[in-house]
Amino acid sequence: MTQTICIANQKGGVGKTTTAVNLSAALAISGKRTLLVDCDPQANATTGVGLDKNAVDRTLYHGLIGEVLVRDLIQDTEIDHLKAIPSRVELIGFDVEMMERPDREKILKRLLSDLNDAFDYILLDCPPSLSLLTVNAMTAADSLLIPLQCEFYALEGLGQLVGTMQRIRKGLNPDLKIEGILLTMFDGRTNLSQQVAEDARNYFKNQVFGTIIPRNVRLGESPSFGKPIMIYDPHSVGARTYEALCREILARGKATQ
Ligand code: ATP
Ligand code: MG
Repeated sequence: MTQTICIANQKGGVGKTTTAVNLSAALAISGKRTLLVDCDPQANATTGVGLDKNAVDRTLYHGLIGEVLVRDLIQDTEIDHLKAIPSRVELIGFDVEMMERPDREKILKRLLSDLNDAFDYILLDCPPSLSLLTVNAMTAADSLLIPLQCEFYALEGLGQLVGTMQRIRKGLNPDLKIEGILLTMFDGRTNLSQQVAEDARNYFKNQVFGTIIPRNVRLGESPSFGKPIMIYDPHSVGARTYEALCREILARGKATQ
């Protein structure tokens, strides 16, 4: 059975794409057939796994509007078991173009259902908004992974995100779970990072992952080389922590089976 994980937070720059790219790479390297779907018109996940968005002639947008079959959107990456569906700027049009469509929240779910368990894991990288694209991703997912940047205002806006999740649970996707809250860009030398981690644990309890992603220069550099951290610098602390997150998710998956 495919596990589909939606990576969302409407706040910008909190580590959604970094997590989507490196967690999918870690899952693939551990032998899981993994698909990374870039649901953001900024297409950072697309370039993050080394795809040239100008060289592809079909992107997620063309699948969502029904022009191309999902299988024909899938691209290979440098990592064997890691495939990706690229995005590009045309995806911006999705929200407006689909406005009148009944069932417009379920378009991505329907598209991905045609994959018929060809993957063990599908990761959805969301844009920094609670737009129709994010609603589609939450509707298509089994669980939600929320990255929280260990900075001031980290928890602000989370109420809105949780509210959206609860609305989706009431109607579109009753089984949507929280996969976990992931603390990102943690800097152990600052009181602020410690405080955010403490607040998050008080509020979300054991839904916060044990793994914490530190601020790490190599993690910040790797997207500009189009490489997941496990290929760019496998010995970096960034690579090791995303591998630890992957193990934590695999262990939880086993525990709930
Ligand atoms: P957006 O909301 O724009 O989609 P995002 O939530 O996807 O942003 P990222 O693109 O993953 O966030 O990260 C924002 C920036 O921070 C990027 O430049 C990224 O390389 C950098 N970054 C992310 N995580 C780390 C980290 N742990 N250490 C250092 N830099 C990081
Ligand atoms: Mg992003």
